[in-house]
Amino acid sequence: MKRTVHTDAAIIGGGIAGLWLLNALRGAGYGAVLLESHRLGSRQTLASQGMIHGGLKYALGGLPSRASETIASMPGRWRACLDGDGELDLSSLKPASEHTYLFAEASGLGPLSALLASKVLQSGAQRLQAEEFPALLRTEAFKGVVYRLNDFVLDPVRLTERLANLGAPHLYRAPQIDRIHDGADSARIEIGNLRIACRRLILAAGAGNEALLQRLGLPVAMQRRPLQQVVVRHPTAGPAFGPFFGHCLTDLKGAEPRLTITSHQSERGGPWLWCVGGRLATGGTERSVAKQREFARSELSACVPWIDWREAEIECFRVDRAEPQQDRGQRPDEAFAEVQSSCIVCWPTKLTLTPDLGQKVLAFMPPPEHPEFPALDLPPATVGDPPWTT
Ligand SMILES: Cc1cc2nc3c(=O)[nH]c(=O)nc-3n(C[C@H](O)[C@H](O)[C@H](O)COP(=O)(O)OP(=O)(O)OC[C@H]3O[C@@H](n4cnc5c(N)ncnc54)[C@H](O)[C@@H]3O)c2cc1C
Repeated sequence: MKRTVHTDAAIIGGGIAGLWLLNALRGAGYGAVLLESHRLGSRQTLASQGMIHGGLKYALGGLPSRASETIASMPGRWRACLDGDGELDLSSLKPASEHTYLFAEASGLGPLSALLASKVLQSGAQRLQAEEFPALLRTEAFKGVVYRLNDFVLDPVRLTERLANLGAPHLYRAPQIDRIHDGADSARIEIGNLRIACRRLILAAGAGNEALLQRLGLPVAMQRRPLQQVVVRHPTAGPAFGPFFGHCLTDLKGAEPRLTITSHQSERGGPWLWCVGGRLATGGTERSVAKQREFARSELSACVPWIDWREAEIECFRVDRAEPQQDRGQRPDEAFAEVQSSCIVCWPTKLTLTPDLGQKVLAFMPPPEHPEFPALDLPPATVGDPPWTT
């Protein structure tokens, strides 16, 4: 005999998208449950650099893009959540950094300097005087320009933990879904003797959406944009190798920062490590690990030459960004939510854009019918580890 439970929404996938949606739906009076096949945040979310940005970096190509307009309001919406006054209560969460920085050797900025000056005015970012530089750049050896942006950084682990706490006890681990069926008005999921009947099935499984879409026969295409991220530890550089959050634009070629750096501590008070993305990671997918290490060392030496990088420990990890298919595989401009029969197919496309995703999904929901959700006989889903700890 199968036990059938009824709910307004069943969410598949426990990255930032699924966790945010679970909490947003419950906050709006819906009954909802989340099913995670592995561990919460385990693919892109915990690998992410956690920058909650307003899109200024997308303007580096020289033209204001639609992406920068959509994204501009996001830091304010997240900030309201951190202040306990937004869509979700994230008031226990403190940013890993209140700002991010753009820096470049003055001679290496070229035509970007005029663009930055105009964008800076619009975005409220500031060009800093030498005495205001972040610690990494406060050295005689750096003769460049530094802008402080209003973008801030959230530690992806703390963020995932907070959303998981908020969403408990509605987060379950389900390594395998035996049957899945969507109809015009409702969908069903079967796991062993359990049947979950939901009015909306929300596909928020990141790259896992591809297989789910195929299984359900739904005509939504996904793209992957691969990265080879770099993790840097520097046991011998001492305090020079402290936390930094920002982008290096020295001798920039193209529209993407040469390096995007965020900093993490495995334990409070422990040594810092840097996670480095940007052009290094997007342009590094064809390189072997050995070549990517070597290239990272030479990029760090070119961008931050006052630190000796020969002793730095450099590791790499590969991860795909999973998104709705775009023309020529370009970066999507907005969060994606599309209704297909009783399913809502979702990709936030950026951590930053998750509040936009939440708003879109709520707009697609019929009024709540099953605000309560009974406990399930499944193990709880737990938060995963970021790639730099494993
Ligand atoms: C290296 C990197 C850095 C980034 N940095 C930033 C940044 O600084 N700022 C920013 O705004 N964005 C950033 N992003 C983008 C952002 O991280 C992603 O857009 C976002 O995390 C995607 O979240 P998601 O929930 O859709 O997917 P994921 O985080 O991938 O979560 C999907 C979840 O679904 C689960 N799952 C998969 N299949 C199934 C299934 N069949 N059943 C149940 N569960 C399933 C997975 O185990 C996983 O837990 C970055 C991305 C990467 C990869």
